[in-house]
Amino acid sequence: MGADGGVGGFLDALRGIVGEAGLATASEDVAPALVDWRGFFRGDALAVVRPASTDQVSAVVAACARAGVAIVPQGGNTGMCGAATPAPGGRSIVLSLSRMNRVLDIDLLNDTVTVEAGCVLSVIQQRAAEAGRLFPLSLGAEGSCQIGGNLSTNAGGINVLRYGNTRDLVLGLEVVLPDGRVMGGLRALRKDNTGYDLKQLFIGAEGTLGVITGAVLKLFPQPRESLTAFAAVPSPAAALDLLARLRSAVGSRVSAFELVSRFSLELVLRHIPGTRDPLTEASPWYVLTALDDTQSGPGLREAVEAALSEAVEAGEVSDVAIPGSQAQAQALWRMRESIPDASKNEGLLYRHDISLPAGDLAGFIDEAERALDARWPGTRVVCFGHLGDGNLHYNCYVPGRRRDDPQAIAATDVNEVVYALVHARNGSISAEHGIGQAKVHELPHYKGAVEIDVMQRLKAALDPAGIMNPGKVVSPPG
Ligand code: FAD
Ligand code: ZN
Repeated sequence: MGADGGVGGFLDALRGIVGEAGLATASEDVAPALVDWRGFFRGDALAVVRPASTDQVSAVVAACARAGVAIVPQGGNTGMCGAATPAPGGRSIVLSLSRMNRVLDIDLLNDTVTVEAGCVLSVIQQRAAEAGRLFPLSLGAEGSCQIGGNLSTNAGGINVLRYGNTRDLVLGLEVVLPDGRVMGGLRALRKDNTGYDLKQLFIGAEGTLGVITGAVLKLFPQPRESLTAFAAVPSPAAALDLLARLRSAVGSRVSAFELVSRFSLELVLRHIPGTRDPLTEASPWYVLTALDDTQSGPGLREAVEAALSEAVEAGEVSDVAIPGSQAQAQALWRMRESIPDASKNEGLLYRHDISLPAGDLAGFIDEAERALDARWPGTRVVCFGHLGDGNLHYNCYVPGRRRDDPQAIAATDVNEVVYALVHARNGSISAEHGIGQAKVHELPHYKGAVEIDVMQRLKAALDPAGIMNPGKVVSPPG
């Protein structure tokens, strides 16, 4: 491919594979795929290609490999670091999995579900529930993100505490490699030590090593008893004490434990219609926790209520609301899940998705706020997240930085302040959102040189021509 006629021929070849319905080239059809959820990254593409089967994905990838055209896999396009957005310039296609959206099989004896990569997460949750099982992956974008995207970002969400990350929920994976070959691996085995665990390479690879086309996922017993509590706590340290108290009271039945700062809640109340303050008095911090039991009966509620009363006596909790109905509980979770949306339009937000050992979290929150305020007085911090996993979404607005100022958008000085504090505590600069293009240049500062070298070698071994989602996760050596 080279001259314009070449592009036409290439697109004709793709059309021959996926049909008219699977190829979009008109700018109004392509445009939504060229910008990320945050509206930070924009790019160009020759087409959005929507194959309907693994064979079609394989043929499309092979055609791209022959023509030297880059492939940017895209799921629900809800990712937070521009990983699904093509580069400006246009020598690429966006490969959307949205037509491969079938649940292929639910096996109740084996407790597994086999899906195509384009399945929307909430559809898988719903199909599992209809079969009397739980698929525990749950996050704010679940109504539009796809399992292929979840796998490729190794998404976390609110139930990691009990069920693990996406990586922990996978038994088998089918992948189309950058040369078009299909690596079939839709095995539903809980034990399989036949050499390297290849599927794990592609989980969290953000589409840089291949295209995930299908997966076998684990199912779990459905909870019979569920309880949500929203507690006002004086500090993050008190929140961590509360987590320890709940765990010693009810063990692994704590399935979610989320921290919410007062300012995060205020943003939701300000920007999301129909929301209201769950408690009468303001508190600097809150915890939203979910507890589940696969046995029915009064045991869970009694144990949690007793632990919460002890927490009030110990000064860990100043007030608590336990919703009386599922609708009330859902309203609390909607509040928590609306924080990203609510903070989107308040100003230019510098986002950080960090993780730390539990013992370092409270100290980090204190120190980071002081460091930011010393350098940029009046900085407002939106701190919330999966405290039980040591994962905070530590975002901030810096006075004078505007959303329409490209220089402010590109500035990395705020990130550097935050990441230096994270790095000093052996934390991670990306707990669950990935690297994408947003952090590709920052990663080498915070990951070991040998680790980066191994990543580059893996990338070069699987994708020597560098056509699979170039410019994301790891830059070529040199
Ligand atoms: P996309 O954004 O389309 O793609 C993400 C990456 O995966 C890209 O690199 C893309 O190339 C690659 N990819 C997509 N499909 C495939 C495939 N089939 N094969 C190979 N590569 C592929 N994330 C969390 O981890 N936890 C949260 O709690 C959370 N909450 C969120 C809340 C909101 C409101 C929003 C908008 C996002 C949230 N996210 C969260 C981020 C995002 O939803 C996740 O990263 C999600 O897993 C992305 O899925 P997607 O289908 O939208 O992927
Ligand atoms: Zn999150």
